[in-house]
Amino acid sequence: MSRKDTTEEFLNSLPELEEGKTFAFSCHPGVKCFNACCGDLHLMLTPYDVLRLRKGLGHDSKKFIHNHADVSSTSGVGFPMAKLRMLDNSKRSCPFVRDEGCSVYENRPGACRTYPLGRASQMDSEGGMIEQFFVVQEQHCRGFEEKKEWSSGEWLKDQGLEEYNEVNDRYMRIMTRARKAGIVLDEKKLNMVFLALYQVDNFVNFVKDMNVFVRLDVSEERQAAILSDEEACLAFALDWVELIVLGSSENLKPKV
Ligand code: SF4
Ligand code: SF4
Repeated sequence: MSRKDTTEEFLNSLPELEEGKTFAFSCHPGVKCFNACCGDLHLMLTPYDVLRLRKGLGHDSKKFIHNHADVSSTSGVGFPMAKLRMLDNSKRSCPFVRDEGCSVYENRPGACRTYPLGRASQMDSEGGMIEQFFVVQEQHCRGFEEKKEWSSGEWLKDQGLEEYNEVNDRYMRIMTRARKAGIVLDEKKLNMVFLALYQVDNFVNFVKDMNVFVRLDVSEERQAAILSDEEACLAFALDWVELIVLGSSENLKPKV
């Protein structure tokens, strides 16, 4: 499930879940508040969220974005960011909530998986990530009355968050580097980044049509994976964005 506010300012106002400490929580159809939190959300969708959701739904990126996302750009650096569009009803319900629960559970966004934790991450001086966790205990949430205890690591694993955080942190690191370098995307670059990260199915065609590999040092094995597997293509897209926006990427070099 999910919550409304995961901003750094909000998270810093909460007590940190220290390493080795646990929290009691469980969410299931038997809790009185079941589904209560799946509406009126400001739920940001990362590129990996969009990829997983639209593949699960069987939508191409154009259809998914048209039907479910509001796109804007982040303040400062001007990178694209998408938000899940709530339904236009009195509860502003999530379009995927049903009486029996989340209809996209296998591919639900990272923010829904993370709750009731909040996760703050920042880049260390060597480019690694430092993580902090907070328990976001909302008054209406009865899940905290359940007995099951979790450490942050157990929760992340149970919710399948490792793969989400890995890709999302990569995007965050690129934005952090851009911010530090004083880079602000112009409209052309913003559109390129949006294509690469949020429309991976169309980016594959761009890579083929524009012979992108001709100018880059990419092994044949990796090229084949990029053209056949959208998750591999998103990993490549992040490297490519890093290269075109920041001028260098650890994982992708121009041919010499
Ligand atoms: S227990 Fe909490 S997370 Fe689960 S449905 Fe209720 S409010 Fe949402
Ligand atoms: S995607 Fe699923 S878990 Fe997330 S808000 Fe919508 S219905 Fe709830």
